[in-house]
Amino acid sequence: MHGFFRMQAPGDPEVLEFSAAEPQAPVAGQVLVRHTAVGLNYIDTYHRSGLYPLPLPTRLGVEAVGVVEAVGDGVTDLRVGTRVAYAGALGAYGTWNLVPAGRLVPLPEGISDDVAAASLLKGLTTAYLLTRTFVLGRHHTALVHAAAGGVGLILCQWGRHIGATLIATAGSDEKTALAVENGATHAVNYRTEDVVARVRELTGGAGVDVSYDSVGQASFDWSMNALKPLGMFISYGNASGSAPPVDPQILQDKGSLFFTRPTLATYTAARSDLLALADAFFSLVTDNVIKIHINQRYPLSELVQAHRDLEARKTTGSTILLPG
Ligand code: NDP
Repeated sequence: MHGFFRMQAPGDPEVLEFSAAEPQAPVAGQVLVRHTAVGLNYIDTYHRSGLYPLPLPTRLGVEAVGVVEAVGDGVTDLRVGTRVAYAGALGAYGTWNLVPAGRLVPLPEGISDDVAAASLLKGLTTAYLLTRTFVLGRHHTALVHAAAGGVGLILCQWGRHIGATLIATAGSDEKTALAVENGATHAVNYRTEDVVARVRELTGGAGVDVSYDSVGQASFDWSMNALKPLGMFISYGNASGSAPPVDPQILQDKGSLFFTRPTLATYTAARSDLLALADAFFSLVTDNVIKIHINQRYPLSELVQAHRDLEARKTTGSTILLPG
């Protein structure tokens, strides 16, 4: 049955309700995409909970893969039948969506629909974090939080490819082992070990050049105290709640630190950037430098359970949702 999930008000996963709806014709600049696989991302939980408020009622989900079924006026570079993916357009939790043409990425042959749905948003994020926000080099040491998660496993593999030293953190021994298998040089289980003390020990007291921090509130002090002078704090997510406000004075006191709060939307606002980052990422996947771990698959109809599992930290790697 055609349709999509939407919510009338923010809240727990149960606010997500399926609504039957036939595909609509695209207006100018839009493309109708029939989905074959849908990505699950932590940002979806921020939209659902109201941490990132959306005008209501709203469709949810921001990443999917599918086939172009119709194009609106003015769309000249995408043809019916083309396999495409998108990361960052609302309405992905459904069997179809109307997407601005400028947001669509045509898929290379070597990338399957499932892999693209599991990785485009996370891969684009890793691409800008490692090559633009902080240009990670082989001489750098990076702290990587939530290292066994969707973004985390991609970031570890890409960081290893660069040759950087990576200190991963995760919430269980199974997760730290997974991070090491995927490229982390060292891993710290934050439930049983003191993260800052371990980082100091592993770096001979120096600290790290950069902290890739998607955990937010719970990891804020670890990142701040693990950086070396002139280090960069990249706060790019809120899995444990929002990071606290940053007092500029603390950046001085800790040694002229840099602090940034980046978002994929800014780094892919220009279509040329979107396509360049996607190309850099997919090339590494087709060259087998990065393996996409699709560790959870749910029918789209089980979306509520998928949200519960993601928030309960039961998942590792990527999760996809499959329309019926
Ligand atoms: P993940 O697969 O990484 O899942 C989140 C992980 O965060 C959990 O598995 C868990 O790992 C960790 N975590 C720590 N504290 C909590 C908590 N209190 N509740 C739940 N999880 C917690 O998700 P994604 O790969 O989809 O996204 C990773 C992060 O990157 C998210 O924070 C997301 O918002 C951010 N992001 C930011 C982007 C940007 O441009 N700014 C773009 C894309 C993603 P553990 O058990 O090891 O602690």
